[in-house]
Amino acid sequence: MSMPKQTPEERVRNFDEVALGFTPELAILEAERCLQCKKPQCVAGCPVEIDIPGFIAPIAEGDFKRAIGVMKEKQALAAVCGRVCPQEEQCEKLCVIGKKMEPVAVGRLERFVADWEAAEGLVDIPEIAKSTGKKVAIVGAGPAGITVAADLAVLGHEITIFEALHEPGGVLMYGIPEFRLPKDVVRREVDYVKKLGVEIIYDYVVGKTRTIGNMLEEYDVMFIGAGAGLPWFLGIPGENLNGVYSANEYLTRVNLMKGYLFPDHDTPIKRPHMVAVFGGGNVAMDSARTALRLGADEVHIVYRRSRAELPARLEEVENAEEEGVIFDYLTLPTKLIGNDNGWLTGIECLRMELGEPDDSGRRRPVQIEGSEFIMDVDASVCAIGNSPNPLISQTTPELEIGRKGNIEADEETGKTSMDRVWAGGDVVTGAATVIMAMGAGRIAARSMQEYLSGGN
Ligand code: FAD
Repeated sequence: MSMPKQTPEERVRNFDEVALGFTPELAILEAERCLQCKKPQCVAGCPVEIDIPGFIAPIAEGDFKRAIGVMKEKQALAAVCGRVCPQEEQCEKLCVIGKKMEPVAVGRLERFVADWEAAEGLVDIPEIAKSTGKKVAIVGAGPAGITVAADLAVLGHEITIFEALHEPGGVLMYGIPEFRLPKDVVRREVDYVKKLGVEIIYDYVVGKTRTIGNMLEEYDVMFIGAGAGLPWFLGIPGENLNGVYSANEYLTRVNLMKGYLFPDHDTPIKRPHMVAVFGGGNVAMDSARTALRLGADEVHIVYRRSRAELPARLEEVENAEEEGVIFDYLTLPTKLIGNDNGWLTGIECLRMELGEPDDSGRRRPVQIEGSEFIMDVDASVCAIGNSPNPLISQTTPELEIGRKGNIEADEETGKTSMDRVWAGGDVVTGAATVIMAMGAGRIAARSMQEYLSGGN
């Protein structure tokens, strides 16, 4: 069932949340569609193993309190995941009803119960085990680190998260825009984790303020969930011009530093007329839709493949299309052009056509000779990917590091090559998804608990 939304005309000039959520009546109607399968396929599609039929059944009976109780057994970030998880590729893809009609809207129901609990002010804290005296240090307050913290805090360990920024949430706070994931929702869910006894220390850059080796003298075990915050660039001429942004910088200025509220907030952000965003994932969609909300006259997504290959969630592509983002498919930027004052004025591009599939299974874009053209713009945002920041790897020689700068960790346990150190989330996989990071956090927490309780 679709969810009420702000209209495109209304939402394109504000930063308020686009999707408005189910009413209790809509939630009950939707929950009644669940077949309560004996062997639910949907659960197998959820990286954090939420008991999906178990939380949907009480919604159908109007018992929302019981529903959130079931959810919380496996999920500390329900309001976040209900909003941003790619359910269409996971639980909903495996829903039996989905074979014939729309699958049950698991994500929307997840969001509904989490928001209902917050609105009612009924947040229950689970029982916390007696103190074990064991100390756990976690690097990064993103979804991976928060999941480890929540899972281990209830078992009675002393948990401290060390976070480089002045706010928790990682990409949830500095990357994903307010109109898709309100920051109050993130703060609310992090507050819940703090109520489990987790301490968060901000403005603390592990690898600089203190190294992993040094911290291990104080802590029994460590988890590294430092994400993938190092942006990639195209490597074409002109990328040092003014008006050229990485998506990281652009979105951080707007989301974390509230640039769209300048001068009430300190961080300025350029308000250009013509913007080109390079890339086709969620980060590109978020950047383009942000540029529109900042008042740009025209925003282009410049993508070298076709619509079918866009890696972004379909829902976000459709939202961007409805809002008026222009998609330039099969287009490759080759050079950024500036004026005498060093400001970006245009982009030289080439047209492409699709050839044979490459290693990723997607058809390889091939350049069309002589198809160069100039696109006039006064800002560009590069959203083509990220790697982990090398600060930790450079100061921790004991850690095995992969080809793309990622920390190597065992898939089954999250263990790294360094004794008493686990890792998970984007810092291991490269840029992925919230729920994958949470799933990795859960796996690592299980293995860390085994170690802490003397099992290995
Ligand atoms: P992060 O969220 O990156 O958190 C890592 C944390 O570690 C950060 O707070 C960082 O400040 C901190 N840190 C880094 N280095 C250090 C250090 N040396 N010392 C201390 N702290 C440190 N996923 C989805 O599922 N759905 C979406 O719709 C979606 N949209 C996205 C949109 C954007 C714009 C972006 C950028 C990503 C999006 N993603 C989405 C991806 C998703 O947000 C990430 O995969 C997920 O947040 C990874 O979680 P993490 O905990 O591994 O890392």
